[in-house]
Amino acid sequence: MAYIHNTIVDLKQSSPAQSEFYQAVEEVLESISPILDSNLNYQQQAIIQRMVEPERQIMFRVPWVDDSGNIQVNKGYRVEFNSALGPYKGGLRFHPSVNASIIKFLGFEQIFKNALTGLPIGGGKGGANFNPKGRSDNEVMRFCQSFMNELYRHIGPTTDVPAGDIGVGAREIGYMFGQYKRLTGRYDGVLTGKSLLWGGSLVRKEATGYGAVYFADHMLNARGESLQGQRCLVSGSGNVAIYAMEKLYQLGATPICCSDSSGTLYHQEGIDLKLVKQIKEQQRGSLIEYLNNHPDAVYTPTSDYPADGHAIWRYQADAAFPCATQNELTEADAETLLDNGCKTVSEGANMPSAQKAVDLFIQSSIAYGPGKAVNAGGVATSQLEMAQNASMQSWSFEQVDQKLQQIMKNIFITTIDTAREFGQPNNLVLGANIAGFRRVAHAMIEQGVV
Ligand code: NDP
Repeated sequence: MAYIHNTIVDLKQSSPAQSEFYQAVEEVLESISPILDSNLNYQQQAIIQRMVEPERQIMFRVPWVDDSGNIQVNKGYRVEFNSALGPYKGGLRFHPSVNASIIKFLGFEQIFKNALTGLPIGGGKGGANFNPKGRSDNEVMRFCQSFMNELYRHIGPTTDVPAGDIGVGAREIGYMFGQYKRLTGRYDGVLTGKSLLWGGSLVRKEATGYGAVYFADHMLNARGESLQGQRCLVSGSGNVAIYAMEKLYQLGATPICCSDSSGTLYHQEGIDLKLVKQIKEQQRGSLIEYLNNHPDAVYTPTSDYPADGHAIWRYQADAAFPCATQNELTEADAETLLDNGCKTVSEGANMPSAQKAVDLFIQSSIAYGPGKAVNAGGVATSQLEMAQNASMQSWSFEQVDQKLQQIMKNIFITTIDTAREFGQPNNLVLGANIAGFRRVAHAMIEQGVV
């Protein structure tokens, strides 16, 4: 379609060298083409051109002093992408790979994900090319304080409410909140993912991983199956992966693999989750340490991965949960998963599958859930944290988990109903993108050209 093609050509000229951002935009625009064809109002209102351009992008220097007294300089970002549905909402990522392309792809995805939740939240994302790994707590604190020295001007409980993402957990949120409070003198719900001691919500830590498993279970139930007894591959061993594995065990499935940036772990009898939590959440260590307790497990270092993909997706399993990072599942990985009989792929991470892998999953008619629907439980529970903060209440674990389950069910129903409406019942990418797009586009039209 010429309209979509021209938008992408213009985007590549006005925002050069942002491959991850183009990948995210192309996926969305191609899958929503049926609705653009049938409703010329979207073109007349220049909805697509407005959606692909962030409302505001903030880039800033983050200087700080390391433990040896050396001055370090990082680059910070906050992209406030779209506020048609509510305050900008989306996490902060601290990882050496962070650049404008990655933050923009994540922010763009966030618009549709947040719309899918049905909650009043717009889309945004931020972060820095800072690597917390190997840094002392004091170094992380000084970095977070310097980051907040700029960010505090742009955020607020009704304007922009960041959360965590890769490299940003409870420790980093705590240091950033402390500095925000010191700079503004305000104790308000300006960040989510806070500690339970001072304004956090129960289930927020678990929400993304639990939600990814709830979504997978809905996909299987719709086919008359369930996760009970299934053997699963879960990439990553961070926040999302750990709580996906926890919920898998609770539903009678067995995670047999997980991974981190240095390698993949396979344990035939099932991953010892208590040990993984100890290594990753308490010691901030490497998964290779797992072998000290379980010498029967198999560890494949990243350097030994197949040239065209990743060791984790080469194990035989019923279901796969990519929960680490973008483009971690290649076309060759997808072929191997399908050849090995994998029937479910549920994406806890953002854009973990390369476009050709996604195409294969859709063609093969397996139960494939795209990240923006599957991992929306995290941001949805962040919004529940905002609601508790604003009403000065704290809900019980069961109350929040019930709401999370209902939200994931609604997201699944909205996604599959939309896919059916457009005659492609197995294409949940199309279903999620069109459902999210419609909600945002209509809000934008009603709010005028702003
Ligand atoms: P964490 O930092 O807690 O964990 C990330 C995990 O992925 C770690 O095991 C890390 O390995 C591994 N990893 C990160 N980058 C790479 C890489 N380049 N190559 C290989 N492995 C890598 O992050 P989260 O669990 O919070 O986030 C994981 C994914 O889920 C991301 O795509 C994020 O955007 C998405 N997401 C997260 C949400 C949340 O609530 N946290 C909400 C929605 C989506 P190591 O331990 O070695 O660093």
